[in-house]
Amino acid sequence: MNTRHLVILFLDQLSETLSALSGFDSSRDTVLMIEADDLFCNVPHHRLKIAFQIAAARQFAASLAESGYRVRYSRLEDADNTQIWQHEAVRLCNDITPEKIIVTEPSEWRSHQAVLSLRELCSFPVEMRQDTRFFSTKEGFSSFASSRKVLKMEHFYQRQRKEHGVLMDGNKPIGGKWNYDSDNRRSLPADTIIPPTTRFKADRTTQSIVRLVNQRYPDHPGSDFPFYFAVTRKDALTLLEEFIQTRLACFGDYQDAMAFDQPWLFHSHLSFYLNNGLLLPKEAVSMAEQAYDQSMAPLNAVEGFIRQIMGWREYVRGIYWHKMPSYREENYFNMNRSLPALYWHGNTKMACMAQCVGDTLQHAYAHHIQRLMVLGNFALLTECDPAAVQDWYLAVYADAYEWVELPNVVGMILHADGGYLASKPYVSSGNYINKMSNYCGCCHYQVKEKSGDKACPFNYLYWHFLLTQKDRLSSNPRLVFPYRTLAKMSKEKLDQIKKDSETFLENIDDA
Ligand code: FAD
Ligand code: SF4
Repeated sequence: MNTRHLVILFLDQLSETLSALSGFDSSRDTVLMIEADDLFCNVPHHRLKIAFQIAAARQFAASLAESGYRVRYSRLEDADNTQIWQHEAVRLCNDITPEKIIVTEPSEWRSHQAVLSLRELCSFPVEMRQDTRFFSTKEGFSSFASSRKVLKMEHFYQRQRKEHGVLMDGNKPIGGKWNYDSDNRRSLPADTIIPPTTRFKADRTTQSIVRLVNQRYPDHPGSDFPFYFAVTRKDALTLLEEFIQTRLACFGDYQDAMAFDQPWLFHSHLSFYLNNGLLLPKEAVSMAEQAYDQSMAPLNAVEGFIRQIMGWREYVRGIYWHKMPSYREENYFNMNRSLPALYWHGNTKMACMAQCVGDTLQHAYAHHIQRLMVLGNFALLTECDPAAVQDWYLAVYADAYEWVELPNVVGMILHADGGYLASKPYVSSGNYINKMSNYCGCCHYQVKEKSGDKACPFNYLYWHFLLTQKDRLSSNPRLVFPYRTLAKMSKEKLDQIKKDSETFLENIDDA
């Protein structure tokens, strides 16, 4: 049967409302989906992440077929799969010979380039449509960014709220303030009950995908933990509703808290599904807004959650597309140390790092403050090469796609873009980690100790970083206080900081 339009879907485009599917005619059009080794091996992606992507994509393809769509699907284990996405696309397009290829703009630079190359490699016209799942467009962001001397997430976020009428009372923000972040920094009381989250039992199809991935990629990071993620829209919606009902109300208060063996706390754990298309950002925002209207959650929680999705998520996407491909190469501090091996195994005497790496390896997930203030903080303080840090973050999280991982790594944790995304580096001593978590009580190191073998490494490394980056950072208005403190330190103290830091960095594998 002849094909009029061949709609190619990427594995993170699992939404029936996707722009590429608009106008689809089941009698004349065909959907094409492709799995290939090169999608999963550019960095050693976590095995749970690969299994999640494949299981969700296959379920989505099956649900399309059930609804009457013609679907052609190239599976990883198919004998004729060339295992390179672009080659597969060309092979199947030549086989199907459509009148036209339609795609929704891919989320990542490399997939975008692969689609552009199809224009040259195939003789069929290619139509690329906007990804309307986002509140903003790439072009809209670029014109916003180009019109400003200094970029601030807060300005972009307020613009988004006004434009889409979210949490607004006429022209003013509901409650009178745009941002309730200052209310959202409470540490977790010891007796807090964390609501349980649903874990889905993998069906036989998903279990066989998990086995396939484990056999195919034995050297990738992974976990023996049973697979429990949602792989259908129905199950992902259950998780969204559960979050709104049981955890959103405390999301704001404990957004920055961390606790032993509690990677979720009051976080939504929805990024996996928002990023692969099973959930739509607009429905998550609208349900949170409704929860506020129905007094199910306070404003600081609802605003905080909505800011992450309409603000940060879209801001980092905007920066990614505005700055690529050179954004990947940014290295403002000229850092060049390798990523410590402990990031891959989690064996370390530092309780905070052991816990955050451990959570990551077990669940392919860690919440934002773990990623930012423990794992990211340590990567910057230990002077890691940004490229190595990018590869790690892209590999280990099930929600990691370059468009969202890269700006968070380059701009937020490493300040490698010299302050384009964030106005100051997110570095801290052990004091912050101790205030926001219960990690330090069980640590080999002493958080109150500033120097010597038993001192918390974050303490001297923090000052060492400020000291070594003085030329670049001391005029930053947001770092006035720490530089004032540094200026008052005696020469002996500064020498000790240098000595402790250098010893630590030389022996990092024993830390
Ligand atoms: P919640 O805390 O419940 O937040 C709700 C939603 O807001 C998230 O699901 C996410 O969609 C969005 N969000 C929150 N913060 C950010 C942010 N800074 N950037 C983009 N979206 C945000 N998020 C990813 O989705 N993929 C990544 O690869 C990724 N890499 C990161 C790397 C680093 C170094 C850091 C510091 C953050 C990274 N984030 C990434 C952002 C954030 O940590 C995760 O979105 C969040 O932890 C996902 O968990 P959650 O769904 O429980 O989020
Ligand atoms: Fe981490 Fe330092 Fe606390 Fe240990 S003492 S858990 S290294 S912050």
